Amino acid sequence: MATISLKSGRDKSVRQRHPRLFSGALKTVDGKPKDGDVVDVVDNKGEWLARGVINQLSSTAVRLLSWQVDEAIDDAFWRRAVQAAVARRAADPLLASSNARRLIFSESDGLPGVIADDYAGHIVVEFSTLCALRARDAIIAALREATHPRQIVEQLDAERLRTEYGNNARLVQSLERGTAPNPARVLIDEHGLRFHVNLTGTQKTGFYLDQRENRARVARYCAGARVLNMFSFSGAFSVHASAAGAKHIVNVDSSRDALDLAAENAVTNVQTNISQEQADAFEQLRAYRDAGERFDVVILDPPKFAHHPGQIDKAARAYKDLNRLGLGLLAPGGVLATFSCSGVVDAALFQQIIFSAGLEAGRACQIVERLTQASDHPVLTSFPESEYLKGLIVRMTQ
Ligand code: SAH
Repeated sequence: MATISLKSGRDKSVRQRHPRLFSGALKTVDGKPKDGDVVDVVDNKGEWLARGVINQLSSTAVRLLSWQVDEAIDDAFWRRAVQAAVARRAADPLLASSNARRLIFSESDGLPGVIADDYAGHIVVEFSTLCALRARDAIIAALREATHPRQIVEQLDAERLRTEYGNNARLVQSLERGTAPNPARVLIDEHGLRFHVNLTGTQKTGFYLDQRENRARVARYCAGARVLNMFSFSGAFSVHASAAGAKHIVNVDSSRDALDLAAENAVTNVQTNISQEQADAFEQLRAYRDAGERFDVVILDPPKFAHHPGQIDKAARAYKDLNRLGLGLLAPGGVLATFSCSGVVDAALFQQIIFSAGLEAGRACQIVERLTQASDHPVLTSFPESEYLKGLIVRMTQ
C-alpha cells in the first residue's frame, strides 16, 4: 500500500480524527498510488496515523476512514459503516414520529461523500466524492441488506464531483447509471403531516429533512398568526403552521415547481389558508414593506449563501439585508424564525448578523430559541464543519 508522509506539525488534525487531509499537509507520496486508492498516512517521523483514500486532483488529498492500524478498507469495512449508521437511526428516539430520515450523513457517519435519505422505504443515495464512488457497489449492497428498501435511487452531485475529477464533466457524466425511479414520487409522514417527495429532478434528495424538528418548533408560535414563509420549497413550514392554527400563511419561492409542490402538500393536508407568490425573496420583502404589510411570524430559510470561507463577507451582507427586511415586516410582538445553512457562517457570526439587522431595522429583539439540524444529521465532534444549520427564533420587543 502506498504511504503518505506529512510535513512536520501537520499531523495534529489527523491525530484528532479530522476526516479531511488537505493537500498542503503532504510531504511525500511513496508507492505511486492512483487516485481512489487506499493509502496509509504517517507523520514526518514515519509513525502510522491513519488510513484513507487518496485523490490528488482535490484539495482534500485524502479522505480519512480509519485510525486503527489493523483495519482494512474493504467491502466489509463499508458494510460495517452502513450498518452502524442505519442502526443509530433505528435507535434514535427523536426519529419515531416520521417515516423519512437521513440514514447516512457523510463524514458524520464515517462515509465521506455519501448521503442516504430514506423516504418511507424509498432510499435516495447521493455520491459526491471519488472515495464514495469507489465504494459505491459495496455501499448500495449494504444498504439493501440493512434496510430491505422498496427501491434505491442513485444520484451524483455533479458539481462537487467535478472538483474531484479535475473538472472533467464528461467523466462525471459517465458515472451516471440506474433507471428512473418507480414510483418517482412518494408520500412521507412527518409529525403526523404528509408531504409529497419527488425522488428525482428536484432539490437536494427531495425533502429538507434537516428542518424536521424546527418546523414543529416554529409552528408553536403560529396559532392565530399571519405567517410569511419565505423560501418555502415544499411548504412544509406552512403546513405545520396551519395545522397549529395559523390564520393565514403566504409561501414565497422563486421556483414554480416548488410552489406547485407546496400547493399539493397544502391540499393533501386539507389546509385551505395557504396562498403563494412566485417571486425573488428580496424583491417580495421590499414590495411588502412598500405596501405596509405586517406579519406575526416571518420564516426565512434561504439556500446556502456561502459555500467556502471566501464568500463569508458577501453572504453576511445578504443575510443582513434579508433579516433587516424580514424584521421590518413584523407586527408588534411578532416573531422571526431565521436560518442559515452555510456551514462557514458560524453561530456566533449569525447572531451578530441578526443583531446588526435589528439595529438597521430599528427593532429591539430577543433571542428566545436556538435551533440546529435534526438528529439524523449529527455533528461529529472531530469534524465541527458538519454543523451547518443554525436557526434563531427572535421576538420583537419594540
Ligand atoms: N424551507 C424549505 C426549504 C427551503 S430551500 C423547507 O422547509 O423545505 C430554499 C428555497 O429557496 C428553494 O425552494 C429555492 O427555490 C428558493 N429560492 C432560492 N433563491 C430564491 C430567491 N432569491 N427568492 C425566492 N426563493 C428562492
